[in-house]
Amino acid sequence: MKAGMAPLLSIVGLKTSFHTLDGTITAVNGVDFDVYPGETLGLVGESGCGKSVTALSVLRLLNPSMTTIHGQVNFDGKNLLSLDPEEMRMIRGGTISMIFQEPMTSLNPILTVGEQISESLRLHEKLGRKKAWEKAIQMLEIVQIPSPELRVGEYPHKLSGGMRQRVMIAMALSCNPRLIFADEPTTALDVTIQAQIIRLLEHLKKGSNTSIVLITHDLGVVAQMASRVVVMYAGRVVEEAPVVELFHDARHPYTKGLLKSVPVLGGDKKTRLNEIPGIVPNLLHMPKGCSFHPRCSMTMDICKKESPSMIHFNKNRRVACWLATDDF
Ligand code: SF4
Repeated sequence: MKAGMAPLLSIVGLKTSFHTLDGTITAVNGVDFDVYPGETLGLVGESGCGKSVTALSVLRLLNPSMTTIHGQVNFDGKNLLSLDPEEMRMIRGGTISMIFQEPMTSLNPILTVGEQISESLRLHEKLGRKKAWEKAIQMLEIVQIPSPELRVGEYPHKLSGGMRQRVMIAMALSCNPRLIFADEPTTALDVTIQAQIIRLLEHLKKGSNTSIVLITHDLGVVAQMASRVVVMYAGRVVEEAPVVELFHDARHPYTKGLLKSVPVLGGDKKTRLNEIPGIVPNLLHMPKGCSFHPRCSMTMDICKKESPSMIHFNKNRRVACWLATDDF
């Protein structure tokens, strides 16, 4: 990120609540962060911490009859939360796209991959049928699918998991998006294919100014791809730092716990990973004070009573913890 650069996306006070039969669940609770042009931002945390709901809220992919979203999502001078549905449809899949964890649930099983990529090109780029089909083949070639002119006519179930993820990436890139949300793009794949997909994303990223929000629980993937990291816990941001600083000088006890659970390359496979004790809290029954306190080894009395405010150390460094002071 260059000094003085304006963010491409600026999320301010995002709060997303689901109305369920058991009560209202606030899955995202006052989240703020910026994404700058051309950067890869890691959005990190365990399952259920609100990362995916944040992305789905930005793209307005949640059912409005069951959800309330407050705050601002500023993109390209517009607050996406106040656009009408048609304007939002033109942004989604065009200037902002998303890669999902399990392509089988997001690809349409009754359309060929060519039809699915073409559909988006015809809607957003206004290409005719023939041109869209040719571009679909070109996109499959870009994501390194062998024999793209044959694969373009196949249905998703005919492809392997890794190929399907490449198709999702081809779809996400087809309309030259300015921003991509990649939600656990490698989690459902085996380790070798994971490495190939990460290399592919890195390679594609080099040739463009597209920004990526990389949503993952895997700090190993973040270390390889992201330049900045936002850590979420129980619907809130708890720490933000440039990736190198986060790995060398994490300040929030939750981030430190996540880092301890990253497997070390060449380490003894039999060694059990140091997992954070306990589980993510039930959002219907959030603990009082700091929501991490039941799992934190550094809990103090105040942590059980009051939620810590966010302390900003500089523009790129912030931590929400009672222990976070300048001499921390
Ligand atoms: Fe742990 Fe207290 Fe910091 Fe929460 S505020 S992370 S409980 S030390």
